[in-house]
Amino acid sequence: MKILVINSGSSSIKYQLLDMATESVLVTGLVERIGEAGGVLTARTHPGTGVEKRIRRENAVPDHNAGMKLLIAQLSDRQDGVIRDAAEIEAVGHRVVHGGEYFHEPALISEEVIQAISANVPLAPLHNPANLDGIRVARELFPQVPQVAVFDTAFHQSMPPHAFLYALPYELYEQDRIRRYGFHGTSHKFVAGECARLLGRPLAACNLITIHLGNGCSMTAVENGRSVETSLGMTPLEGLIMGTRCGDIDPALHAILHRSRGLDIEEIDALLNRESGLKGVCGMNDMRDIHAARQQGNKLAQLAFDMFVHRIRKYIGSYFAVLGRVDGLVFTAGIGENDHEVREATLAGLENLGIVLDREANAGKPGAWLRISAPESRVEVLVVRTNEELEIARQTMEVLGQAPIETTGPVWSGAVS
Ligand code: AMP
Repeated sequence: MKILVINSGSSSIKYQLLDMATESVLVTGLVERIGEAGGVLTARTHPGTGVEKRIRRENAVPDHNAGMKLLIAQLSDRQDGVIRDAAEIEAVGHRVVHGGEYFHEPALISEEVIQAISANVPLAPLHNPANLDGIRVARELFPQVPQVAVFDTAFHQSMPPHAFLYALPYELYEQDRIRRYGFHGTSHKFVAGECARLLGRPLAACNLITIHLGNGCSMTAVENGRSVETSLGMTPLEGLIMGTRCGDIDPALHAILHRSRGLDIEEIDALLNRESGLKGVCGMNDMRDIHAARQQGNKLAQLAFDMFVHRIRKYIGSYFAVLGRVDGLVFTAGIGENDHEVREATLAGLENLGIVLDREANAGKPGAWLRISAPESRVEVLVVRTNEELEIARQTMEVLGQAPIETTGPVWSGAVS
């Protein structure tokens, strides 16, 4: 089964075509600058194989419809394409940022589903409309093909009320649906599933802490395979320190910033989302630049690193208390997958929690995954490369009643005491 995965943004469409018989990527690509001067499509066919080919096409892309047509033309191009024609695409999976409380699972797209996604626009005013653009255009261009919406928030809908509610007047929840929703759910779900597979246990029998550290950062406590607590909140601002987002702060700071600096609510919002986090502390938001600066003795870069790590450790401790028993801890996304220094500093001195790092393994290069805990560690610690597109394609198949391919059994067995 060939599945096209679409991640439609306001001015871009990310796409992947996957052959689910082997879970291999046939094409991964991006159409950018939609609605701007100088639209461009970049793609790689058969990425990571010996026959990988890079493609770049400059083309006016006035709207999402033109963008989608451009990528379909690329997929079925005689010279550079990977399919004979668009009829080979058997399903389309769409990433949708916010499913609100309506969507606990992926959904086969219908008019009713589109309306429910539209009803969640106030919760994600930048993302959901762009996701809907992609859905509408794909439905026009593939009217016969089943399409599935996969939500970033759905994995976290299993959180109990005592975890998802804020201690505010209850009517704010009842009337305005103010609560924690959490994000990065597709990534947390994927790495939790991979971790369970590597541990040789059913996901439903695993308690895990998943740590997604990329541009945005979040952590999830997974109990018996279900999300029971997560660090991002009503919006993607809460929790861990991120590239430019502050994460947890005293909510009274809004009033203080207004009174002391005369900032209005939009300015405060911009300050906390775009000028804070690592960037706010040291002026840099890419962890690689921060390492380089630390090595040159930059004290603010060191401070930003220490704050970043400290916040993750605080959450690890609290998630141990939430879960009681932890079988595995998983690092993923740009920093989580690549940055052994962050991982080492995060896990230093946690032996009493049953976490013992194998420093040599931690310094190794991860492929799809890497085990970095020492044999005596009670908690297995893994680095797992996240793959949201594959997770979307798998969930799309599930909605259509198709079984995913048999994944290989446990990579190591009997490893967990
Ligand atoms: P993501 O949002 O998952 O694409 O992650 C992007 C972030 O990962 C970047 O802003 C960098 O801070 C970080 N990153 C990517 N590669 C590395 C690396 N090799 N070492 C440290 N951080 C990295």
